[in-house]
Amino acid sequence: MIPYGRQDINEEDLRIVIETLKSDFLTQGPMVPKFENCLSQYTGASYCFAMNSATSALHVACLALGVKKGDTVWTSPITFVASANAALYCGANVKFVDIDSRTFNLCPEALESELVQAEKLGSLPKVVIPVHLAGQSCDMEKIHNLSLRFGFKIIEDASHAIGGTFNGAKVGSCRYSDITIFSFHPVKIITTAEGGMLLSNSSEIAIKVELLRSHGITRKHELMEGVSHGSWYYEQIELGYNYRMTDLQAALGLSQMSRLDEFVDKRNNIASFYTEKLSDLPLRLPVIDFKCKSSFHLYIIRLNLKRITKSHREVFEELRRDGVGVNIHYIPVYKQPYYRRLGYSDGNCPEADRYYSEAISIPMFPSLSEKELGQVVKSLRNVLES
Ligand SMILES: *Cc1c(COP(=O)(O)O)cnc(C)c1O
Repeated sequence: MIPYGRQDINEEDLRIVIETLKSDFLTQGPMVPKFENCLSQYTGASYCFAMNSATSALHVACLALGVKKGDTVWTSPITFVASANAALYCGANVKFVDIDSRTFNLCPEALESELVQAEKLGSLPKVVIPVHLAGQSCDMEKIHNLSLRFGFKIIEDASHAIGGTFNGAKVGSCRYSDITIFSFHPVKIITTAEGGMLLSNSSEIAIKVELLRSHGITRKHELMEGVSHGSWYYEQIELGYNYRMTDLQAALGLSQMSRLDEFVDKRNNIASFYTEKLSDLPLRLPVIDFKCKSSFHLYIIRLNLKRITKSHREVFEELRRDGVGVNIHYIPVYKQPYYRRLGYSDGNCPEADRYYSEAISIPMFPSLSEKELGQVVKSLRNVLES
């Protein structure tokens, strides 16, 4: 089976991880700050914090923006559950805003009309989490303008989008947001096995994040409440977590960063190949806004079911049977049983429902061979035309 995604680990990645294993520090050594500096250089964000996952980074991001019980966080329903769960961890409520039919990202127009309604009802969100689905940035300029008008904070869930750009700036620059999150899970653009990063330009946010990532403990005198007992002294001043990344992971991440642009270029080449070869089939292919360069974490096709004799499920299962490891990104979060129990139901996001009934992610990763690409195209053609 050709998987839908796969990591790319080379000899240099192995070498640097083994070297780190033999060094004095397996964690809290020099590799984590090196990896963070590299991300800061790459994106232009002033502050970068490596963490053990993007989920942890999303949690800390919500806490750092003061999300708590009684608050509401808005996000897209077409995302991995972690984008929404982060708000629930803080005791807040989640509301799902419908997606754009073209980009499958949070729709700025739907967001605006929901905000106008919410303002009248006194139920504006504290934070909005736009998700850059498949590697294409949301329209952050529009969402940022809405944040100025309605007074909410923004966390970009860029788990798919490292290496992409919006309005010429790297995703992660935080030009239009308070915080951006990356994931380094093996299916994503670069990997640290498990891992994530939180980026921000705010020194105030940075102080909070640094504390929350590591037990709420500080060794900085200016943050302490008491007087130092001696050079061993530290203080816990918040209830934080252990969300740290290890040096082994950071070493791998740093090594992977040297190939990030190459990975993104290869993904874009694969996307161009698919777009050319699949254009005559009864499909809706990805549309990339002129403001964006996508990192193409995913290549998502939508079936034109009016012109196909098979169901969505049949197409999916026939492709799998044919050795093409297709997947669905994502089941709308409000359909999950846990969210159902909280009272969520279908019907508020018709475009997301329609998307879920048509979307399929086909294999997309840098080391896909020409032979495999040919096989995917041939298989799709067979399944859709037979
Ligand atoms: C992968 C992913 C996450 C979670 O990332 P982890 O690093 O596995 O915690 C969050 N949001 C989105 C959109 C993702 O794709």
